Amino acid sequence: MSADHTVVIGAGMAGLLAAAALGAAGRPVTVLEQDHDLPGQGPEQDLGQSPRTPAPRAGVPQGRQPHVLLHRGLCAIEELLPGLRAQLIAAGGVPLDTGNLAWLGQQGWAPFGTPAFELVSATRPLVEHLVRRRVTALPGVSLLTDVRVRGLGRAPSGDGWLVERADGPPLHADLVVDASGRASRLPRWLTLLGHDEVPTSTVDARFGYAGRVYSAPADVLGRVAGVVVLPTREVPAGGVALPVEGGRWLVAAVGAGEHRPPRDPKGFDGFLNRLRDPALADLAALARPLGEVAVHRRTGNVRHHYEQLRHWPAGLLVTGDSLCAFNPVYGQGITVAAVQALLLRRSLAGGTAPGWEGRLLRRFARAADLPWTIATGEDLGHLGTGRRSGGVAELFGRWSGEVDRLAAHGDVRAQRTLDRVYHLMDSPTCLFDPRLVASVIRARLLGLPAPTPRPPLGRDRASWH
Ligand SMILES: Cc1cc2nc3c(=O)[nH]c(=O)nc-3n(C[C@H](O)[C@H](O)[C@H](O)COP(=O)(O)OP(=O)(O)OC[C@H]3O[C@@H](n4cnc5c(N)ncnc54)[C@H](O)[C@@H]3O)c2cc1C
Repeated sequence: MSADHTVVIGAGMAGLLAAAALGAAGRPVTVLEQDHDLPGQGPEQDLGQSPRTPAPRAGVPQGRQPHVLLHRGLCAIEELLPGLRAQLIAAGGVPLDTGNLAWLGQQGWAPFGTPAFELVSATRPLVEHLVRRRVTALPGVSLLTDVRVRGLGRAPSGDGWLVERADGPPLHADLVVDASGRASRLPRWLTLLGHDEVPTSTVDARFGYAGRVYSAPADVLGRVAGVVVLPTREVPAGGVALPVEGGRWLVAAVGAGEHRPPRDPKGFDGFLNRLRDPALADLAALARPLGEVAVHRRTGNVRHHYEQLRHWPAGLLVTGDSLCAFNPVYGQGITVAAVQALLLRRSLAGGTAPGWEGRLLRRFARAADLPWTIATGEDLGHLGTGRRSGGVAELFGRWSGEVDRLAAHGDVRAQRTLDRVYHLMDSPTCLFDPRLVASVIRARLLGLPAPTPRPPLGRDRASWH
């Protein structure tokens, strides 16, 4: 094996996107994945025009739940793998404009029907499949499945790493990228190698998901492209419905603590019926379910502060959920992994002076800062334990509440500015745009206009057939 060989642990979205960045830099990469028989591993398989969704797999149990690729993530993946967006659409992914989502926020409906950001809605297995097909076709990138990594050791020569496999001889690598997800054992492996304990922050609002697939055409709701009902502080229960490939919709219920949705179909329907708006229940009642309800409950925000370790070892990086996993309700994980892959690509293009890994890791951590603030700020509010985000984060939280109130009373500019932050396209300082500040003051002095009307969802059930 060549001296500059890289091993990526985990072929989830973060591992694949890191491999795309490494492959583009001409580095030989081996991605090690514990799952076996990943669908469409070879470059030749094409889903073509009649999409079949690859099956969810054991190593990615969240694959049965809806996965939104925020606009920033779509742009970042397109930059890493040009043409991926078109391939996703050709394979059945549904392009939609977020301005056409029926979005029931904390304070009411968001303005509907003006252009905002593009999304391509597809199941997680399809997105991963297409990305995997592109990445494994890159020269120098190979994927070994059925290989579980169980430890990291220093190479006896002192040069690089020995990646220990559960079954088989260790692999030598000069660079190791841990992308093994939430279950990453890297903190433990590092302490076994004599490093300090890795400081870790956790905010777990105990959100649960229950998701079900339905048969219904993408335009079943007419002009409404999808539905989002956000959990509120008062009742932390909500849901989402999005069209995906193959003439299907994914409907998911989400709730925190005692409001976590159940697995049994009757309970699931009942949960949807008790939400603040009946749109999700109506859709589920009319569309034909295609399988069981799948639940997922491992959703806490967990952040390992590797950047705070005194000595970061040469030849080691951590990306994706292994570094920082977010409550998925905010749909940020893949986007952050894609942004980190772009940072990796830029760093490799700029040359790798000694200590580059530690510097890059700090940039990876900074890429997680805003999404972490968004997710934990909201979740601390849901926990209501008196634990607060504090300082600037809390100020932003309160101010974005003011802007959200404007949006819920018809202010399109307020909604689009919130969208820019939510889709990680802009810094939260854009919420202090002088025009928005003026609108907030005007509303405080003169009162708010009428609430934004409910989007054209209709309760005319017959029209859905
Ligand atoms: C319910 C739910 C819904 C979500 N919804 C969204 C969403 O809407 N939008 C979004 O952007 N993100 C969402 N996410 C988050 C998203 O799934 C992850 O952030 C994203 O997939 C990046 O994860 P990853 O590649 O770091 O880890 P994973 O996707 O978990 O992949 C880790 C990989 O490593 C492999 N592995 C693990 N250990 C080993 C080992 N020891 N040896 C070899 N291989 C190993 C696993 O088999 C797996 O293939 C959601 C998550 C959950 C739980």
